[in-house]
Amino acid sequence: MNGNQADEISAGMQKYIDASKGYLSERDRYIRDVVKKWRFDTIAVHGLYTVKDAIEDYQGAVIEPIFMSTAQAFRDYDEMAAALAYKIPAWCYSRIANPSTYYYEWTLALLEAYGCDVETSCCSTSSGMAAIMTAVQPFLKIQGDVFEKRNFVATVQCYGGTYHQFTIRLMQEQNIECRWVLDATNLDEWASKIDRHTRFLYGELPSNPQLGFFDIKAVADLAHSHNLPLICDSTIATPALLRPICHGADIVVQSATKSLTSSGFGICGAVIARKNLVTTIDDDQLKNDFSLHIKYQQNRDFGPNLHPLQAVMTLNDMRTLRSKMDLLSRNTMEVARFLEQHPRVESVQYLGLPDHPLHELASRYMWLVDAEYDSQYGKPVNRYGHLLSFCVRGGAEKARIFFDGLDRIWRATDLGRIKSVATIPAISTHQQQGSEARAMANIPANMVRLCVGAEHPDDIIADLDQALHRVE
Ligand SMILES: *Cc1c(COP(=O)(O)O)cnc(C)c1O
Repeated sequence: MNGNQADEISAGMQKYIDASKGYLSERDRYIRDVVKKWRFDTIAVHGLYTVKDAIEDYQGAVIEPIFMSTAQAFRDYDEMAAALAYKIPAWCYSRIANPSTYYYEWTLALLEAYGCDVETSCCSTSSGMAAIMTAVQPFLKIQGDVFEKRNFVATVQCYGGTYHQFTIRLMQEQNIECRWVLDATNLDEWASKIDRHTRFLYGELPSNPQLGFFDIKAVADLAHSHNLPLICDSTIATPALLRPICHGADIVVQSATKSLTSSGFGICGAVIARKNLVTTIDDDQLKNDFSLHIKYQQNRDFGPNLHPLQAVMTLNDMRTLRSKMDLLSRNTMEVARFLEQHPRVESVQYLGLPDHPLHELASRYMWLVDAEYDSQYGKPVNRYGHLLSFCVRGGAEKARIFFDGLDRIWRATDLGRIKSVATIPAISTHQQQGSEARAMANIPANMVRLCVGAEHPDDIIADLDQALHRVE
């Protein structure tokens, strides 16, 4: 599996390799014949963790164990040699692999490919930012000429941290050009920014906090026509509402910190990639299994790995992802409708509102997974997630009065929580990028980002109403 380790294989190593083949083919069969046939909720609840795994390896534990061990012990010299040459699946060292992160990775790989006939794999990361770094770096490598120009094309409406990573770390520090797409719905703009030095296309959707959106299939087709991959950040949607790989994207990055870990216990991330992706980079392992490639090569050397405790915490939150995203989306819709008619609110941005300019486009992509199999619905239903933003009438000072007046809703630079949380992007998540970049990304100073939780919407609305009444 590791192209750098073509060393000869001893008879002793071969014994271990042969033994692992049975395990791997049985796993493939189980995925294909059993897990791929389950509904979304069943995959979210069980993933690849089986009764057999539990009884044979984990003392029968019903819940995936948290393996807080740095490394695995080996039976002998040959097993260690085979494991460290990546010839057999093993835990080796927790920077590279760990049983707890393994189950987390498989659940996400399967959920992002749910409902489509695509093979995926996943590499866990210590944060969403680490996931983005991990996903983009392999495409930026120098291919020959050290002075070669490199660029990529990305939606300017994106998370503040992503903006910094692309502008400061890549553009300023490494001379890799990020070409921002200002209107992501304009395919011509995407196309006009691609040239022979372009390495990938990158898009966040829905974007945080402006709720930008684009036509994934059209942008993926454009990328592929240039032999480039499309990377999507679909943190805000989660696989319960949107699975970009099923619409042609090649790689998805997740800040699992957000709605995937709605309890808010910690930071974590993931890169999920289709097998056999499209790229101009000449590396077979990278193309065949991108997630495995970054796990075994790049992340081995950079070390942005996920802690096993956090992996199981997130796994636990993900089990109810579908029903949670449904509830949170419905609550948010009610709150959006309330804000929309409030005299002290200038505008509301929520993709679920019919007069939002991107409502129609988002409605083609954002569906509650398996609603047609849900006894409550019995047919497909659109759901738009729990992030909205709105502008308080009268400017930044009025927004401040409103913000300070909130009682129940928490003031924090956070989102995706089971509790409602509000922030002002201009002074928090998007403060450091400056007013010019905020204007480009359409983030006015009186914009409030609100992520609606699982409280009863009446109580959220009452809190918003009393805070808005403090504004003269
Ligand atoms: C929060 C966030 C990130 C960064 O994730 P961390 O887990 O905080 O590192 C990336 N993208 C989006 C859309 C986010 O909301």
